[in-house]
Amino acid sequence: MASTTKFSDRPRVLVVGGGYVGLYVAKNLQKKVKDEGGIVTVVDPLPYMTYQPFLPEVAAGTIEPRDAVVSHRMHLKNTELITGKVTSINHAARTAVIELSDGESVELPYQDVVLAAGSITRTFPIPGLAEAGIGMKSIEEAVGTRNQVLERIETASLMPEGPERERALTFVVVGGGFAGIETLTELEDMARDAVRNNNRLRREDLRFVLIEAMGRVMPEVKPDQAEWVVSSMRERGIEVLLNTSLASAENGVLKLINMADKSPAGEFATDTLIWTAGVQANPMVRATDFPIDDRGRVRANAELRITGDDGPIEGAWAAGDISAVPDLSGGGVGGFCVPNAQHAVRQAKQLAKNILAARYGEGSVEEYNHKSLGAVAGLGQYKGVANIMGFGMKGFPAWLAHRGYHGLAMPMFERKFRVILGWLMNVTYGRDLTDLRNLKNPRQSFVAAATPPKKKEAAS
Ligand SMILES: Cc1cc2nc3c(=O)[nH]c(=O)nc-3n(C[C@H](O)[C@H](O)[C@H](O)COP(=O)(O)OP(=O)(O)OC[C@H]3O[C@@H](n4cnc5c(N)ncnc54)[C@H](O)[C@@H]3O)c2cc1C
Repeated sequence: MASTTKFSDRPRVLVVGGGYVGLYVAKNLQKKVKDEGGIVTVVDPLPYMTYQPFLPEVAAGTIEPRDAVVSHRMHLKNTELITGKVTSINHAARTAVIELSDGESVELPYQDVVLAAGSITRTFPIPGLAEAGIGMKSIEEAVGTRNQVLERIETASLMPEGPERERALTFVVVGGGFAGIETLTELEDMARDAVRNNNRLRREDLRFVLIEAMGRVMPEVKPDQAEWVVSSMRERGIEVLLNTSLASAENGVLKLINMADKSPAGEFATDTLIWTAGVQANPMVRATDFPIDDRGRVRANAELRITGDDGPIEGAWAAGDISAVPDLSGGGVGGFCVPNAQHAVRQAKQLAKNILAARYGEGSVEEYNHKSLGAVAGLGQYKGVANIMGFGMKGFPAWLAHRGYHGLAMPMFERKFRVILGWLMNVTYGRDLTDLRNLKNPRQSFVAAATPPKKKEAAS
């Protein structure tokens, strides 16, 4: 264990995860806790919060990657920040073990803990998936996908016609929820712009495929809207395969099966397989002594206190994707809040108030109760679908609603401003279609330049 001398010795509110929930809990608590002689500590392996609803637009190049993240250091000035991963929590002893970014571990004491470590991509044991696929849950994945799609288009434009070129120009998303539909439609929109700028290819040379195991897409919108989404995608030349599942992805060859009778439903090869078939609570909860439900979420009550069979656990709080919080509005799935940003941000604000009430008697501890406002989704430039408080919208008005909602929902004024300024720049100059190369090996050209010719000869 590393020494704890670098860390605050004040009574600590330990926030595990600096994403949506963690950022807002810390922001709303930090000043008061500090003034009262305590400290808020945020632990996260990343030094920033990622605004995940913007990932499809980052992948499509309509939002700059750094504009879609919020730096902890810039915005949590009164918080103790630790770049690392909480690997276990012993609440009985009020301690957490943190693996720091240099690989060392440290054990820190706390007074209150907030579990806010979110969710991870849910996958299944499909042969070849881990080797061939990529998720859409982090800024790095969005940037990597964008570079991959643009690079494949550029490279394929120099290939002779044939299976290799077809493979390079086939782009596949598995999962027809919001994230998958937004990702595929945004990428298709970007690819159209890319081939418009490249006279060696036509849009018809590119293949976009959605694979969805259910008989419909986007459960968050009404059935007729979901059907409209599918038909508008098909009009754009996107193949939508419903009731279809991925059985194997070995060597990038996708073998599909029909969900109804499990019969083979064709196969084809791709270099780009994006997996967005759901999320699951972060498995780090299993390394704690907190109660977990049958879906692996930490159990919480409507006051956002972690709750076992004997009632709420003193000093233990949770919110967001990692938790099973009762949905008092009567909505939700199985009586619990669905994992989305709409709940995460509101739960975080209520949770911060409840900690202030429980710890300093400021106000009273209250239950979280929020009726879903609906959902908005972008389907590429000027196209969208929305269901706002039961009112359905399609096309341009829905796209405007999507932009308006997310432009305002992006945390921190300076980030909102950067995102909106970027959108205005796109209107003026069009989206940026540059794919940055060699990001995985940025030293390549320097190494080549700095290696003496004799050494190069010996190596070859
Ligand atoms: C592509 C995509 C599009 C989406 N679009 C929408 C949308 O349009 N509307 C909507 O309402 N919701 C949307 N969501 C869902 C929404 O983003 C999440 O519900 C929300 O981010 C959950 O917040 P959270 O704080 O619980 O988790 P997160 O925001 O994921 O934060 C979790 C944090 O915990 C950190 N962490 C992980 N493990 C550890 C550990 N061991 N120790 C310490 N820290 C850890 C992570 O690095 C991360 O920073 C979308 C999600 C995705 C992926």
